[in-house]
Amino acid sequence: MTASTPKIFDGHNDTLLKLVMHRGTKKERSFFERVDYDHIDLPRAKEGNLCGGFFALWVPSQRDLKADMGTAHDDPSNFSCVPQETALAYTSQLISQAVQIERAAKGEVILCRSTREIRETAAQDKFAILLHMEGAEAIDPDFAALDMLYEAGLRSIGPVWSRQNIFADGVPMRFNSSPDTGSGLTEKGRELVRRCNDMGVMLDMSHITEKGFWDVAALSTKPLVATHSNVHAICPHARNLTDKQLAAIAESKGVVGINFAVSFLREDGSWSADTPLDIIVRHAAYLVEKLGEDGVALGSDFDGCRVPKDLKDASGLPRLIDALRAAGFGEELIEKIAHKNWWSVLERTGI
Ligand SMILES: [Zn+2]
Repeated sequence: MTASTPKIFDGHNDTLLKLVMHRGTKKERSFFERVDYDHIDLPRAKEGNLCGGFFALWVPSQRDLKADMGTAHDDPSNFSCVPQETALAYTSQLISQAVQIERAAKGEVILCRSTREIRETAAQDKFAILLHMEGAEAIDPDFAALDMLYEAGLRSIGPVWSRQNIFADGVPMRFNSSPDTGSGLTEKGRELVRRCNDMGVMLDMSHITEKGFWDVAALSTKPLVATHSNVHAICPHARNLTDKQLAAIAESKGVVGINFAVSFLREDGSWSADTPLDIIVRHAAYLVEKLGEDGVALGSDFDGCRVPKDLKDASGLPRLIDALRAAGFGEELIEKIAHKNWWSVLERTGI
């Protein structure tokens, strides 16, 4: 007998970006209709028992970004800095997309502002959106936009994406590289950390340099979190976490969400979708060993990366849960990885 799939709350997707980016193209789609490209829409989420997650607000360096992520990483213009006004305008479009989904869903999708609201939404078999900012370019040096975005529902911020901004340096998309690639937090970056701590906004370390990671670790009073990063000892990509970083996350009782991007999973860093689900299980087992059972979650990067073909999209999540079971993960641990650990760390962050 196969056990059912527990509810899955996921640490990272780029679905809002895809919905906005595809407008006016032949890939234009609705969140409510099932299509067979991209990764998340409500029908496929329901098939996979995905009950919600962190929806990223990410601003492309180039407005006409259309390339597949595999080739996009080779083009330096995709990593150029974004002016604040441009970032805020694009972020408004992404938030508006989330608001439009909530409005059209007539109670089936909730833009959540607290962990309590996420728990209630999931308990009623509805879908929970939590807004996360990936790279804080939209926030001005006086932090007025931070207050405004908080009121719009923003509850998690990665101070930097893989490009420089006024808060910090980001890690490049580089395989066979240490994450120690640039400077850490600026003075404004330190102020952002303090404000997020005070307001109850989670800080995400997924794209920050190693120096920036240690700056946040020294300053932040909250658990350390990487919403969508993997194990550097298995896949030596600059985006992944070294054993030393994992030890600091464990010490803070933080959480790491496992990223399904093949290039952050595979030992050879290649972009092949022909990648067995076992590699995700290997990262999960390693993280459980280093962080304990309360420190591991999922951070799919759905709609922002190339995933193993056996997973395909959100509807394939039960196959990943089965792979974890087959590797000997118990039901209690699987539930923690599937949603409980995200909800616990969000609560402990004051959300
Ligand atoms: Zn990312």
